[in-house]
Amino acid sequence: MNFGEKITGWYHIHKRDLPWRKTSDPYLIWLSEIILQQTRIEQGMDYYFKFKNAFPVVHKLAMASEDQVLKLWQGLGYYTRARNLHKAAKQIVELHNGVFPNNYKDVLQLPGVGPYTAAAITSIAFGEPYPVVDGNVMRVISRIFGIETAIDSTDGNKEITTLMNKWIDKNDPGTFNQAVMEFGALYCKPANPECSACLFKEDCYAYKNKIVNELPRKNGKVKTKKRYFNYLVIISKETNETWLQKRTEKDIWQNLYEFPLLESHNTMSEELLQKKIDQSGFNGQQVKIQKTVHDYKHILTHQHIYARFFVLWLTPHHSDAFMKAMGFKSAFTVKIQNIDQYGISRLTDRYLKENKLNEAST
Ligand code: SF4
Repeated sequence: MNFGEKITGWYHIHKRDLPWRKTSDPYLIWLSEIILQQTRIEQGMDYYFKFKNAFPVVHKLAMASEDQVLKLWQGLGYYTRARNLHKAAKQIVELHNGVFPNNYKDVLQLPGVGPYTAAAITSIAFGEPYPVVDGNVMRVISRIFGIETAIDSTDGNKEITTLMNKWIDKNDPGTFNQAVMEFGALYCKPANPECSACLFKEDCYAYKNKIVNELPRKNGKVKTKKRYFNYLVIISKETNETWLQKRTEKDIWQNLYEFPLLESHNTMSEELLQKKIDQSGFNGQQVKIQKTVHDYKHILTHQHIYARFFVLWLTPHHSDAFMKAMGFKSAFTVKIQNIDQYGISRLTDRYLKENKLNEAST
């Protein structure tokens, strides 16, 4: 079987018509690759056009503020990708005069670019013969060639890379790489692959041995951490303002904005929050918990966030003392109608869409 010829032949007939496949501009290919990591194509498409329109060339992206970039990224999740995109654009301007680097080694130096992304960009844009190895590729190769080594192990990854290196088309590596990924996304899917109509069914090890559902093998899952976020949605009725703060720690949603947060080891009740306020040294009589909106569960790759939003009323007169007593050093006031000017996490966005702050302040 000539795997390379067979799969690229299939690709020419069946590939989806996607905008980033119509360009050889490495900047646009890079944009699409970063946006599409852990994102469905339908969702990523909107963001690809938003970024392409706002920042048609790498200079424009480098000149934008991080807040602008994060705001545009809002809703896509995994914000480290956006921060790295921005850092990489600056690096391209500073170190490469604004010209996208044209080889694997230099592309790999860009923030947020690993071996997979560097191989994808340079094979597609510059014809460099580096194979891509992502989830789709690992599944296709494991099944067709019968790789029984766990794909989340170094040895498994090496075996798959070796086979991809063996079959990659040195004259058109970009098409070969995209063909294997596309075949994994459309045909050799994780569940219910299209085996009965598959062009590889005569050769496919997993199909012939009836172990399609057992391959690829994996060692095991990373443990998921539970976190409890208690947000204080503080509202000043007099001025129609609320308080936000920026997440500056190296943690999820870094540099995004959110309501002042108390993280706890378990769910926090209104009584416990009231006790915390009373014990903070602030006169608890001056702040009133109006309502609690709870049971927001937000799932990230290795973390489950359980969130509660406590709506509090506070007069502007008491706000400084309250923020100081509760340790919200960087919290600042925002007019409620201006919140949408800030880049916020998807969790905060969900809360704001489902709960009108203005109504709470009337
Ligand atoms: S026969 Fe099934 S498992 Fe094998 S390559 Fe085709 S779709 Fe994948």
